[in-house]
Amino acid sequence: MNEQQQKMENIISLAKRRGFIYPGSDIYGGLSGTWDYGPLGVSLKRNIMQLWWKMFVDEREDMHGVDAAILMNQKVWQASGHVDTFTDPLVECGECHGRFRADKLENDQKCPTCGAEHSFGEARQFNMMFKTNVGPVDDEASVSYLRPETAQGIFTNYKNVVDTFYPDIPFGLAQQGKAFRNEISPRDFIFRSREFEQMEIEYFVDPAKWEESFEHWRQQVWLWTQALGLPDDQVHELEVPEEDRAHYSKRTIDFEFDFPIGREELLGLAYRTDFDLMNIQRAAGRSMEYTVKGSNTKFVPHVIEPSFGVERTLMAVLSAAYTEDEVNGEKRIFLRLPHHLAPVKFAISPLVRNKPELVERARDIYQRMKQVHGAVIWDDNGNIGKRYRRQDEIGTPYCVVVDFETIEGDGTVTIRDRDTTEQRRISVDDLVSGNI
Ligand code: ATP
Repeated sequence: MNEQQQKMENIISLAKRRGFIYPGSDIYGGLSGTWDYGPLGVSLKRNIMQLWWKMFVDEREDMHGVDAAILMNQKVWQASGHVDTFTDPLVECGECHGRFRADKLENDQKCPTCGAEHSFGEARQFNMMFKTNVGPVDDEASVSYLRPETAQGIFTNYKNVVDTFYPDIPFGLAQQGKAFRNEISPRDFIFRSREFEQMEIEYFVDPAKWEESFEHWRQQVWLWTQALGLPDDQVHELEVPEEDRAHYSKRTIDFEFDFPIGREELLGLAYRTDFDLMNIQRAAGRSMEYTVKGSNTKFVPHVIEPSFGVERTLMAVLSAAYTEDEVNGEKRIFLRLPHHLAPVKFAISPLVRNKPELVERARDIYQRMKQVHGAVIWDDNGNIGKRYRRQDEIGTPYCVVVDFETIEGDGTVTIRDRDTTEQRRISVDDLVSGNI
C-alpha cells in the first residue's frame, strides 16, 4: 500500500470511528454503493451545502432556488435522452460472471476478480437509471425513474419560474438534492456511490453571450474550491475534448482534484446550449422562449451548468484537511477544516469532573455558547490531553476549559487552538460573542 492509499484508508477509518460516515445498511452486511452519515458527517455535509447555497443563491441577485420532486414523469427522461443514452459499457466475465465497466478496466483481457484470461464478451450498454413504478399498476405507463441528476428538475421548472418571477436574463436556478445512478462498480469510498447528492445550477443566458457567463462561472468555481479550503495546486481544470464531451455539450471543463485515490473529477462546468429547453419545447409542445424585458427580442436561452457532487466535495474536504503531525513527541491526527465547515465549533470541558462548582460553571458557559454558536459540544471524558486529541480528530477549532481560575480568579477560561495547539486565557464574554 502506498502513502496515498494508506491516507485514504486512514480517512475511511476515521470517518467510521468518529461518526462521520458509515457503510450503508452495515448491520445487515451492507448495500454496495450506499453510505450513511453519522452525527458529525451530517453536520459537515450540511455546512458544505449551506455554504454553497449562501454563495450561489442568497448572496446573488440573479439566482433562485427550486426543489423539484425526485420522481418525475417518464417523458422527462425520454426527452432528455437519458432513457436511450444514459449508459455505461458493461462486460461480463465468462468464468465468474463478475460484471465490470468496460472503460474502467485496467486490463481488458483479464478478469479483475478471478483472473481468467480473455473472458470478456462484447460490451453492452447498461442504463444506469433505477427504474420503478408509480402507483399500484405495474405497466409501461406507470414507469418512472429515480432521477440520475437534479438538472432536469430545474429545466422542467424553468417556464414556471419565468412565468411567476420573470427574472432579467442572465439568471440562474439552483437545486440541491439526491440523485441515483446504478453504477456498475461503485468504488473508492463515497467517490462513486449509487445514491448521492448533487448541487446544480442552470444559468440561462442570451445565446450570443454564453462565453462571458462561462468565464464567470469558471471563476466562481475557483472561489468555491478556495472557500472549501482546497489548495489551488491540488485543483486542476481539464478542458474536455470534443470526443469525450456529453452529446449536448459544446464546451466542458472538468475540475479535478488530487484525491488520495488519484486525480479525479470533482465537479463539472458545461455549456449545454439550448439542448434541454429545445427538447422540452418539442416534447411538451410549450414555448420555452424568453422575451427580453422592454423589447421584442426573443430567444430560447442557452445554458451554462456548474454541477457539483456533495460526496466528492466532502471527500475532497476531508482529504485536504487530514493532517498528521507531532505534538510533544507524540503523533497526532487532526482535521484542519476551515472553521466555517467544522461540524463542531467549540468543545467545552470542566478541568475535572468531581468539583460540582466547576462543573456547574462550565455547564452554564456551555449552555450560553450553544444558544449563540449552536455547534458546541460538552466533553468531560478522560483527561484533558485525551479530549484535545479527540477534538483534533474531528476538526474542532477550539477547546475551552473551565478551571479554578474561572471560578476563583479573574473569571477567564482557557481556549486552545486546534492548529497551533496554543492555549491562552480569554474572558467568557469574548468567548460567547465570538471575539476570539
Ligand atoms: P464520472 O465521469 O466520474 O462518472 P460524470 O461525468 O458522469 O462523472 P456528471 O454527470 O457530470 O458526472 O455529474 C456531475 C457531478 O455529480 C460529478 O462531477 C460528481 O461530483 C457527481 N457525481 C456523479 N456521479 C457520481 C457518483 N456515482 N457518486 C458520487 N458523485 C457523483
